[in-house]
Amino acid sequence: MTCPLVYSPECRRYDFGGGHPLNSRRLELATDLLRELGLLERHGVVPPRVASDEELGWVHSAEYVAAVRALSERPDHPLLSRLYGFGPGDNPPFRGMHEAAATIVGGALVAAEGIASGAFLHAFHISGGLHHAQRAQASGFCVYNDVAVACEFFRRRGWRVLYVDADAHHGDGTQALFYDTDEVLTLSLHETGRYLFPGTGEPEELGEGRGYGFSVNVPLLPLTDDASWVECFECVVPPVARAFRPDVVVTQHGCDTHRRDPLTDLGCTVYTAEYFARRMHELSHELCDGRWLATGGGGYDIWLTVPRAWTLVYGVVSHQDVPDEVPDTWRQRWRPLAPVDLPRRMREDPSSDAPPVVRAQNLETADRVTRRVLEILGGRA
Ligand SMILES: [Zn+2]
Ligand SMILES: [Zn+2]
Repeated sequence: MTCPLVYSPECRRYDFGGGHPLNSRRLELATDLLRELGLLERHGVVPPRVASDEELGWVHSAEYVAAVRALSERPDHPLLSRLYGFGPGDNPPFRGMHEAAATIVGGALVAAEGIASGAFLHAFHISGGLHHAQRAQASGFCVYNDVAVACEFFRRRGWRVLYVDADAHHGDGTQALFYDTDEVLTLSLHETGRYLFPGTGEPEELGEGRGYGFSVNVPLLPLTDDASWVECFECVVPPVARAFRPDVVVTQHGCDTHRRDPLTDLGCTVYTAEYFARRMHELSHELCDGRWLATGGGGYDIWLTVPRAWTLVYGVVSHQDVPDEVPDTWRQRWRPLAPVDLPRRMREDPSSDAPPVVRAQNLETADRVTRRVLEILGGRA
């Protein structure tokens, strides 16, 4: 079984252009670093396909897909923009947007199909993780929710899906789409919505109906460092994952938790990115024979953080060692374009400089959430 990267240059068409923070150059930088390190040779690179309207309809309304198609032809249509969450700012419509977004969903499906058939053990869908998209609304740079479509693909096979979202922003779209089911457990660690988009992700959001206890949220305070992030992860994720007993694991590897990220306020480094991948890898082998689909996500410090973070993630996904040195050839190739000094080292020392009150409050939150969720899941077993 192989553990491929799912990617093709087509994925870079998902780009809002201009000075928008979601800049597809980050994919070019990351995949070029992977190639330079020779990490793409063993398992190969699998291209995405374009998801069909029927597949998009698993999580999106037909009217919304039709609106995205119309805006894709006529990005200047003001009424459609307003009705479905598009417009200047976060989600400016662009020509070809439907095909670009449906290609990202198709990448998630190629990865999911490979895992379901046993052709792939793990897969990394690097351009995916568009976790804010709602049933009939674009949101937070996300048009179609590729991770939710992948979760739904597995759910339709009767599999129990554990979705863990490490992006600095709450995984609100994915949570909302599975809020009332006990077949997909969504778990998000994120910067508290008190200070950050989308404003949700409080511990009290636990799901509803049969899904009560199957939405799990750990809001973290600004300045959270690697030490505190790791501590909260260990408090919540392994026990909840073991209580849920998934058939497959889907993870979102947004790396905007980094202290240099321009959009967020957490204080992590690329240490957390690699740590999260390593632990989810171990849990997937422990709980579901290694069936694990990893996706990208946010990450707006595109020169220093994204290439290193996602190279480290793919190293874990593909069972390959990532060296400590960033190759000089990669640095030289990108230096003429880079507004900053490119890094020499692949890894960073874990940060542990959060104020003690941040660490204490984070752990208190994580502990309270874990107790509550285990109580609910235990009561249903
Ligand atoms: Zn493995
Ligand atoms: Zn994010």
